[in-house]
Amino acid sequence: MASEDLEELYQELILDHSKHPRCTGCIQNATCCHSMQNPLCGDKVELFVEIGGNDREQRVENIAFLGKGCSISQASASMMTSLCKGKPISEVSKLCAKFRSMMSGELKSDEVPELGDAAALKGVRKFTARIRCALLAWEVLNRCIERCGTESSKEQVASKEAVL
Ligand code: ZN
Repeated sequence: MASEDLEELYQELILDHSKHPRCTGCIQNATCCHSMQNPLCGDKVELFVEIGGNDREQRVENIAFLGKGCSISQASASMMTSLCKGKPISEVSKLCAKFRSMMSGELKSDEVPELGDAAALKGVRKFTARIRCALLAWEVLNRCIERCGTESSKEQVASKEAVL
């Protein structure tokens, strides 16, 4: 791995999120919680989501995670949770799809400013083995939303093998 590639991989933003992860912990009254692992790297993300709102619009009232693993996986979980907190489920579902598109190379980060800090993970896609690390938290979020039975699950991108 070339040093310039490493530089891109471990951008300041990624390091900051991995060293000082946002939204960590567990939520006692979570609407749904789900955990997944990425056995290739040993990453684990356990996600707690509290969904509130009314019939017209459900939103992520609170979200937190517990995790272990590499800096990419933990930074991604931190970026994802802080981005999605307080947002409507429909929007969160779209953000998940956009993140996946970015990681698969279909979108460039400058086309997805709504991903915020998470756009910094675009450099990871050059390292095939690490893409799962970046996707893990987002995949867990997708499962959570799916299990809550909201309409937003229809927008889920078919990518079943992305993460175990
Ligand atoms: Zn990893």
